[in-house]
Amino acid sequence: MVCDTLGAVIEHSELRIAVVGAGPAGVYSSDIFLRELKNKGEELGIGTSARIDVFEKLPVPFGLVRYGVAPDHPGIKFIAEALEKTLDNPDIHLYCDVEFGTDVMLDDLLRRYDMVLFATGAVEDRPLDLPGVGLDGVYGAARFVEWYDGYPDGPRDWPLAARQVAVIGGGNVAMDVSRELMRHADDLHAHTDIPDNVYEGIRRNAARELHLFVRRGVAQAKFSVQELRELEKLSGVQLVVDEEDFELDAETIEKAGHDKLTRQMVEELFVIRDMARDMADDGGVDYNGDPADRAYHLHFNASPTELLGTAGAVNAVRVERTDTGADGVMHRTGVFTDYPAQAVYHAIGYKPARAAGIAYDNRRTVLANDEGRILSDAQDGVVVPRLYATGWAKRGPIGLIGSTKSDALLIVGHMLDDLAGEAAAGRLAPDRDPASIDRLLAQRGVRPIDFAGWKRIDGFERAQGAEEGREHKKVVEPERLRGLAHGESR
Ligand SMILES: Cc1cc2nc3c(=O)[nH]c(=O)nc-3n(C[C@H](O)[C@H](O)[C@H](O)COP(=O)(O)OP(=O)(O)OC[C@H]3O[C@@H](n4cnc5c(N)ncnc54)[C@H](O)[C@@H]3O)c2cc1C
Repeated sequence: MVCDTLGAVIEHSELRIAVVGAGPAGVYSSDIFLRELKNKGEELGIGTSARIDVFEKLPVPFGLVRYGVAPDHPGIKFIAEALEKTLDNPDIHLYCDVEFGTDVMLDDLLRRYDMVLFATGAVEDRPLDLPGVGLDGVYGAARFVEWYDGYPDGPRDWPLAARQVAVIGGGNVAMDVSRELMRHADDLHAHTDIPDNVYEGIRRNAARELHLFVRRGVAQAKFSVQELRELEKLSGVQLVVDEEDFELDAETIEKAGHDKLTRQMVEELFVIRDMARDMADDGGVDYNGDPADRAYHLHFNASPTELLGTAGAVNAVRVERTDTGADGVMHRTGVFTDYPAQAVYHAIGYKPARAAGIAYDNRRTVLANDEGRILSDAQDGVVVPRLYATGWAKRGPIGLIGSTKSDALLIVGHMLDDLAGEAAAGRLAPDRDPASIDRLLAQRGVRPIDFAGWKRIDGFERAQGAEEGREHKKVVEPERLRGLAHGESR
């Protein structure tokens, strides 16, 4: 009898899962959930069918893949295509332009979905704690990235009048920002989807000298080899390094060799050191041997301690020389140098977003969670049933897009186990009418953009690009994106 009842539940009602955030973590998790359910659902007694509704606050999907990754990363278009293919699935329903916490609340979702998975990622910078950070001309990398990637609510103009610029940070975002600040606009225009306002802005960029400051040594940086290879091929740019930074002791070299990625990064940095020597010997040329009109200085063991200014605007960065041993512990030396800079960018990490009604772990800067299970509080460790987190919302702002796949596998495993442990085969939401969410949104005057709407935007962007012999050209204004998605403008 019990079996019959459960059988009827499973047969007549698919599982309902809400995913908040259509970045890579949300999209991969949706796909992996459906696959794993097909494989294991029967055995777990929860059936094999589910409907997943993905809510995204922006008018378009893909999160930082569209609005974080630098436009000149060629591999990214394949990732975007793979994510798009995943979304093109009748069991996954896209609700873009629907913000959790404003348009839908936690109670709305728990009424209609058996489980809610937060994949809300990150958009803001971790703040820089240095004297002078409030001076004009000091920028967080995230806003600059929003500008060059055309984030819907991002700035449309960017001040690029500084001749000398500084970037603070030892990771890939600092590399991206530095590269875009040193690029010739025409190189970028030909090979990327940048919109006209970004092309015009970069064309007028006055920066001729850039200083990138990395607090620790060559062996402790967090650059990927791909980023370094891109740095090596900037036309018109002379690379400049401090030879002293490359005097590594035997222990540091040995330790770097233990980890493949670190070893490759250090080897590539030595390639850059050699290139910098040749570029200087040849009288200040770029990688092609052509005269350089820009200089890109790469400083390791350089910890900014203060931003200096006059009349409220930044004009220099004070940097303390550091010394980092093989153990990775950084020592200060008390030796300071001031570098002139009329614009300073800090790229010291992103800060994952909060979600209404979900506890935030201020120490780890993530949604409070234990291996992806949401906790009532970051300290007390009590799991809140039916709520999960994945991607940067769960793990923090580190790791490449590929890591969101491993997150997804772990979290989906927990979700399936938890569903199997529930009565009624995990059918926990009282309102099981799939159209109920559409009625709720309509009542609230919210007009979601579905996958077909996204395809209309994408089609338009491709057509616009083709007119200029490019593959794609981004539309940036949110109202225009909405108009295109709803078939109301061309
Ligand atoms: C500047 C930068 C450059 C990068 N470059 C690379 C690179 O070249 N290669 C690489 O592999 N990785 C790169 N990364 C890392 C990569 O972007 C992340 O690993 C990945 O995007 C994390 O995925 P996510 O889905 O967790 O978060 P996100 O990509 O941030 O996606 C989260 C989504 O949730 C949405 N959202 C947030 N709050 C709400 C809400 N309240 N309601 C509804 N929706 C919401 C957001 O709008 C967003 O679409 C880069 C990261 C940054 C910041």
